[in-house]
Amino acid sequence: MLKFNVLTIFPEMFDSYCNASICKRAIESRKIEFALHNFRDYTLDKHRRVDDAPFGGGAGMLIAPQSVFDCFDAIKETQQGKKVVNVYMSASGTPFCQEMAAQLAEYDEINILCGHYEGVDQRILDAHVDMEISIGDYVLTGGELPAMVLADAVMRYVPGVLGNHESAQDESYSYGGLLEYPQYTRPANFRGMQAPEVLLSGHHAKIMAWQRRKAIEKTARVRPDLLKKADLTPKEQQEFLKNSLQNEGN
Ligand code: SAM
Repeated sequence: MLKFNVLTIFPEMFDSYCNASICKRAIESRKIEFALHNFRDYTLDKHRRVDDAPFGGGAGMLIAPQSVFDCFDAIKETQQGKKVVNVYMSASGTPFCQEMAAQLAEYDEINILCGHYEGVDQRILDAHVDMEISIGDYVLTGGELPAMVLADAVMRYVPGVLGNHESAQDESYSYGGLLEYPQYTRPANFRGMQAPEVLLSGHHAKIMAWQRRKAIEKTARVRPDLLKKADLTPKEQQEFLKNSLQNEGN
């Protein structure tokens, strides 16, 4: 069982996510747990405020330390002896990737702090956070969507979360560092668009070779940066080099 403790002032944003699809099933079968902690409940401010103006000026408001410190303290008190990691969802964090998702799935509990407004006071990060993680090079209004993205990618690695028909193998980023090849299902011919004959041939080796070639082609087209790090055979590397030289010549 992997537990996500989410520190947020908008816990209701998680309602529909936790009540649908694979996440709902994983919660019901006790493979994962979501505990939503509204740190506004910990504020000592009589108007229930959790934010304040940043020192030194600048636009917007910042989440102040007190409510988040008290919320973290209360959560951490329940985690004695557990393998825990504390994450802050941050536009300026380390870019999230598949490998990080797999590593995070090894913890017993993941505490995820969602920022809002202009972000959070640095002392919260210094005292309570192990990793700052970004879900991409863009700025969102809050850390709630990023927290759901992170939890979704992580829970797929928890044994039993994916059913027999779903698999974390052979997908983009797990397929030898390549993007996934194109896939087709019935009917073989839909409105004049024919699925590739090789996939209907039943010839396993040929199908695998076709999938591999298509995965390399797609990765070269969409994410050439990934291809440089991918697990390619010397023959595939030569082929790729030949194609890229040809493309440069065009
Ligand atoms: N002032 C911050 C900056 O320039 O980096 C942006 C703050 S953003 C408006 C509010 C909150 O949304 C952040 O505290 C963070 O928790 C979350 N957030 C925004 N973009 C994000 C991203 N790309 N990845 C992860 N979290 C993000």
